Amino acid sequence: MRAADDQRRQAALARDAELKKTAVPTSPPPKANGCATCQKELPAGALVNVKGKNYCYGCSIAAQADQCFACNKPILSAMMKANNRKYHPECLKCSRCKNQLTEGFRMRGKDMMCVPCSSKP
Ligand SMILES: [Zn+2]
Ligand SMILES: [Zn+2]
Ligand SMILES: [Zn+2]
Repeated sequence: MRAADDQRRQAALARDAELKKTAVPTSPPPKANGCATCQKELPAGALVNVKGKNYCYGCSIAAQADQCFACNKPILSAMMKANNRKYHPECLKCSRCKNQLTEGFRMRGKDMMCVPCSSKP
C-alpha cells in the first residue's frame, strides 16, 4: 500500500462523509400494496389500515392487539391486567415463586407476588 494511494482514499472517504451530511435524508416511499409487517404484496382491498400503516389481515390482528408488558409480543387471546399494564396470563408471574398470578397478586415494592408469597416474610 503506497502512502499516496492511502491519502487519496482518505480524501475520498472524507468527501463521502461530507456528501452524506449535506444530503437530505430521503426514506424510500412505502410500498403501496405491501403489508408493513410481512412485506407481502396485496391488492388494495385486502389491506387493513392500522394506525396509518397497511397490513395484511393476519398481521393487522397482531398490529391492533395490545402488547404484553413482559414479552412485548401482541396479546392475541387471553389478557391479564395488572398495574395498568397488560400481560399474557403466562407472562404475569410471581416474582418470587414464578407461578402464574391467576389468583390475584399483591405488590411488594416494585414486585408483583402471588398472595402466599406476599404474606411470607
Ligand atoms: Zn402481513
Ligand atoms: Zn407476554
Ligand atoms: Zn409466589
